[in-house]
Amino acid sequence: MKICDILSGSAKPFPSLEIVPPLNGMTVDELVSRVEPLMEFGPKYVNVTRHRDDLRMSQKTVCGALMDRFGINVVPHILCAGATGDDIRGELDAFKEMGIENVLALRGDCLSGEKRFVPVPGGYAHASDLVRGIREYRSSEGTVYSIGVAGYPEKHFEAPNLRTDIENLRKKVDAGADYVITQLFFDNALYYSFVDKCRQAGIDVPIIPGIKPFSSANQLNLLPQTFSIDIPYDLSSEVTRAGEDRERIYRIGLEWCIMQCRDLLSHGVPAIHFYTMGRTGNVGEVLKACF
Ligand code: FAD
Repeated sequence: MKICDILSGSAKPFPSLEIVPPLNGMTVDELVSRVEPLMEFGPKYVNVTRHRDDLRMSQKTVCGALMDRFGINVVPHILCAGATGDDIRGELDAFKEMGIENVLALRGDCLSGEKRFVPVPGGYAHASDLVRGIREYRSSEGTVYSIGVAGYPEKHFEAPNLRTDIENLRKKVDAGADYVITQLFFDNALYYSFVDKCRQAGIDVPIIPGIKPFSSANQLNLLPQTFSIDIPYDLSSEVTRAGEDRERIYRIGLEWCIMQCRDLLSHGVPAIHFYTMGRTGNVGEVLKACF
């Protein structure tokens, strides 16, 4: 089923999940059994990330295993990075063969050492160009994909300011994106303000909050460095006060996430997207408390 139809047909908010294909060494059965406990909370789809390296289980293997085992909709991520237009059309053909009707269209990051993103010859420079390419794609059976794109409540790190970044987000929606999933954030006020600014800029598609439970002390530095996001002082100071007590930090992150999700649900969000990043236990506890 298409995500745009799930969003328009759902009477109440629902969870969705994001899985990173594990590093080689894990079996498909291990992956499936890690995700299985989350299924009882009714996620409507599972996103499967895409990576330039080949150190991971293949994205198609992960998508196929999740579809076979749980009969769930999957949303593979598809990247401009490293791909020509022909490569993208080949990917779409392969997804269609698998019965997949959804993709999340992303630019991807620069290679390490690159100062700015450089598309391969015949590739796409921006996610909006990729969205346009996917919209123009028609399989022999006339397959049309539902397309999601990324949004950044705290601004994409390359953008000169949030307003310009939102104007660029609008280009993705104008090119044919059906909905937006946000970068993770720990302060709901940033998300509400972002949604307001998007609406003022004429972006009228669903904007789904992306959430991850904070879980370990090293994330105080790692998450801001990796995702260009802030950790609110109330959360960082509580984590710092917990010192080496890993269990306490885990509980602090969990309680913060539950508080965030309950507040988002009370504000009428259409859905909440959970980044699992290889940890499903804490996401399961949040789902149990909130859905
Ligand atoms: P774009 O929308 O192209 O934006 C990138 C930058 O270019 C922004 O600063 C934007 O303001 C600017 N820009 C956009 N259009 C224009 C234009 N026409 N002219 C000038 N400037 C423009 N990365 C992965 O490698 N694999 C994944 O699976 C993956 N999944 C993700 C899932 C989500 C929900 C999110 C939020 C991010 C994900 N990423 C993933 C990270 C993403 O690839 C990076 O954040 C990347 O740097 C930007 O991708 P984008 O699609 O937002 O790019």
